[in-house]
Amino acid sequence: MNILAIGCHPDDLEIGCGGTLALYAKNGHNVYMCHVANGDKGHAVIMPEELGKLRTAEAEASGATLGAKKVYNLNVPDLMVDSHNEKQVNAVVEVIRAVKADVIITHSPDDYMRDHVETSLLVFNASFSASIPHYDTTSKPYPLIAPLYYMDTLAGVGFLPEEYTDITDTIEIKLDALEKHETQMKWMRVHDGIDFSDFVRTVSKFRGLQSGVKYAEGFRLCKGWPRLVTKRLLP
Ligand SMILES: [Zn+2]
Repeated sequence: MNILAIGCHPDDLEIGCGGTLALYAKNGHNVYMCHVANGDKGHAVIMPEELGKLRTAEAEASGATLGAKKVYNLNVPDLMVDSHNEKQVNAVVEVIRAVKADVIITHSPDDYMRDHVETSLLVFNASFSASIPHYDTTSKPYPLIAPLYYMDTLAGVGFLPEEYTDITDTIEIKLDALEKHETQMKWMRVHDGIDFSDFVRTVSKFRGLQSGVKYAEGFRLCKGWPRLVTKRLLP
């Protein structure tokens, strides 16, 4: 299968579904990652233009660690993600068509900040538009409106998973990938005293506790027709 995970900022997919993406890749599926925002405002000292470039490189290193075939960067400035912006919808449509996504993963529509919520809506909109024959982008229309999974919210707040993936074998890959986002990890450790790796491990451990394994990630399937499925698509 072609798996397309679309997150907002360059490190969001590692946090929400990195272990699952690594599992998909290990099982021989084609994994593609895409971040809509470029992460240019995620630091108080490094200026946006420089930070955007650094974070793009970090996302590529992280994608390689997880086994992704390609990391797309839609390069929208932080705090400017907008699900009604035609240019942004077109960019997501183009990625879905180029990848020929069989499964799409994105943020939950009730995550903690606006860019995440807008990314969720953007992906919901674009995954429908990608199938429409006369909606033109560079790649040809792709007829499948792919099943859409919502990944966990930040810290798992307000999110009750319906399906779990056992990431016990890929938790260290997930955390390794997360460490590639050096500007974020270092800044939070030094400036905020937050060990974000421990934060993410804790959520995976909690989801594991719920599902009877050591580490897990949780998901919910989008219930809009025709995205429902009769079989399990998560690893
Ligand atoms: Zn984010």
